[in-house]
Amino acid sequence: GRGEGIVEDFGLVHISTGDELRMHVRQGTPLGLQAKGYMDSGGLVPDSLITAIVKERMLHQDVVEKGWLLDGFPRTAGQVQALSEAEVHPDRVVLLDVPDEILVERCTGRRLDPVTGAIYHIVHNPPPEGVADRLVQRSDDTAEAMSKRIATYHENLGAITTYYQTKCRRINGVRAPKAIREEVKAFIEGSLPPTMSGVPPRRAMPKPEEAMAFVETTMMPFIVKGCAALCKTKPDKPLEYLAHWMIENNPNKPLVDNTADQAPVNKNDVNEERA
Ligand code: AMP
Repeated sequence: GRGEGIVEDFGLVHISTGDELRMHVRQGTPLGLQAKGYMDSGGLVPDSLITAIVKERMLHQDVVEKGWLLDGFPRTAGQVQALSEAEVHPDRVVLLDVPDEILVERCTGRRLDPVTGAIYHIVHNPPPEGVADRLVQRSDDTAEAMSKRIATYHENLGAITTYYQTKCRRINGVRAPKAIREEVKAFIEGSLPPTMSGVPPRRAMPKPEEAMAFVETTMMPFIVKGCAALCKTKPDKPLEYLAHWMIENNPNKPLVDNTADQAPVNKNDVNEERA
């Protein structure tokens, strides 16, 4: 199960926003009625709804006394902001890393025992004799809802890991539960470091030959057309004009005002390049 081992190891209160929401849905509360549609389709419930639940839950005596493990929250930039405005600062953030296709397989095979709350998997963790008949499936553990949940996850992940980068560790979730639990434990105890510190992740630079192939196949037709148009509209100094335009429209242009540095493009340099 998610987080149960950690909760035992450190004597924390497990707050799973998914569990909280499913409880509201089961009990038919106004909040549950509002949330159900979003959940079944694989979407996120609105930040205001879920944030109110979490804030309320964190005031309970047991949470205040023992500390908490938030499971499935924050999931958006808005939720991160709400936590920070409420001055709730986690000591550690764990990102359990599981490839998308394995997530789909885990969720579509997942079955719940409504009597004990136990979680099974039809292949990897089949239920004991006599239990199978009463197992139920989560209404959002369908392939369609899963693919939406995964897409939403990828859209939001960066905002969360960036905000918590100094306290977040990415942990391989495709291992025996015991191995995962041990790594999470070591991380929380401080014997393993965070792994997300430093510059936020970005796309790797393409290899030079990939970049050249892209220039030749994709950009060249536009460059040729552009140069022809430029020679027509600015026949006297087309390249100088182009250089000015590129400096002006450079997306990496610093926001400070350094117009003094950019104004004079040396006409001789431009002409040399053309040669
Ligand atoms: P989970 O059990 O964590 O997979 O959550 C099940 C569903 O509850 C999600 O697909 C969302 O619809 C909703 N949910 C749970 N946690 C959040 C959250 N932090 N923000 C928005 N929706 C959530």
